[in-house]
Amino acid sequence: MSWHLEQLKKDYPPVTDLAACREIFWTNPRLSACGSDTAKAGQDAAKADPIVSIDEAEARLLRFAPFIEQVYPEVLEGIIESDLTPIPDMQDALALDTAGVLPEVDLPGRLFLKCDSHLPVSGSIKARGGIYEVLKYAEEVAMENGMLKESDDYRILAEPHFQELFNKYSVAVGSTGNLGLSIGIMSAKLGFQVTVHMSADARQWKKDLLRSKGVIVKEYPDDYEAAVAQGRKEAQEDPRCHFVDDENSLDLFAGYSVAGKRLKQQLDNRGVIIDEDHRLYVYLPCGVGGAPGGVTYGIKEYFGDNAYCFFAEPTHAPCMALGLITGLHNRISVKDIGIDGITEADGLAVGRASALVADAMESRLHGCFTVDDSRLYPYLALLQDTEDIFIEPSACAGFAGLHHIVSGNADVPAPDEQSIHIVWATGGSMVPEEEKESYYLKGCRSLNTITE
Ligand SMILES: *Cc1c(COP(=O)(O)O)cnc(C)c1O
Repeated sequence: MSWHLEQLKKDYPPVTDLAACREIFWTNPRLSACGSDTAKAGQDAAKADPIVSIDEAEARLLRFAPFIEQVYPEVLEGIIESDLTPIPDMQDALALDTAGVLPEVDLPGRLFLKCDSHLPVSGSIKARGGIYEVLKYAEEVAMENGMLKESDDYRILAEPHFQELFNKYSVAVGSTGNLGLSIGIMSAKLGFQVTVHMSADARQWKKDLLRSKGVIVKEYPDDYEAAVAQGRKEAQEDPRCHFVDDENSLDLFAGYSVAGKRLKQQLDNRGVIIDEDHRLYVYLPCGVGGAPGGVTYGIKEYFGDNAYCFFAEPTHAPCMALGLITGLHNRISVKDIGIDGITEADGLAVGRASALVADAMESRLHGCFTVDDSRLYPYLALLQDTEDIFIEPSACAGFAGLHHIVSGNADVPAPDEQSIHIVWATGGSMVPEEEKESYYLKGCRSLNTITE
């Protein structure tokens, strides 16, 4: 290690709060509002340096749409996409006094929920990147074997001889849960052999569901990083095994980035304009960074300087905040500053950020904030009560960013009546009923809205 903790704390004051698991808000100085030369240079560099091709990824998803519709008739036109839902009652409720459980936010502008919690097939944001990467691999395998051309009707992929082909190949992934679900469900559907290396924090029902689909689930007593490392190692030994590398994958990133283009269409369809006078603020829960990073990349491609994206992380696993604040990216882990990485936001329980994403976010992300686990359940219960929408604890983290933007903690233009806010809900629809109920009750107890 080329640094000392005491020196880091001196050089980067928020590190002291991070190490104490206190909530922070940090604005990325490379992108701060004042239109400084550094900020401008950063934004220009971002424009000149495409990381993935959103159009190419979208075209691939369109080629697969007839196949998806064939095997999942509930997916409208074979396009895996989620609703953008106004949540005015939640917005009103956020302004109320909850006796300090949640900050009171009088949010100017309109608040929307991006319901990736309800994406078809796998019920989380991982249905974007994870499914995209599996489809791309299937396409490669089928083409290499001379069985598929781009101009074919991809419904043929559902035929038995393709299942036989894919069965000679395998897919592996390390995951805290939801990525495993996406990769496992789609790979098994195509006929691949699949192994999911699950970290200790992964929920039992996710393991059970995958096993019921014929997926091999290997469990690790250790954390996510260990599960990924083991998966990577096993896959390297087998040339017919594709390893989905959550820490470095450009394919995952490309799949997530398509969200920016789709969001543009959804806002256009609603007649919602984004420009200098109608700014877009987006709040995204972050684990290793791939999902929120890819989405942010796409949003910045389509909305440019009029979009302000922020990542939300648990106070006990703030890997991206730590990596960006110190500039050390993946060369520092939350454990290095004495944090345990343990959180009830299982989708965000990651100790070390993706290097690929940290690099890409330097010139694109406006800031990071952390949220204490104790706030996730009250947000969950409030959303359920006001809008009748269930999302999982991890997916609630974005709500904790709103008050920072309103209270001026962020060095970005303050929102006004014309502003659009999108809290990105990243998972929840596949959570079993009993667990939904227990999360909800936990939130009600914090808010004191039920008495037992
Ligand atoms: C995976 C996940 C995230 C974050 O995605 P990363 O790519 O790990 O940053 C957020 N919310 C939920 C529910 C997730 O499953």
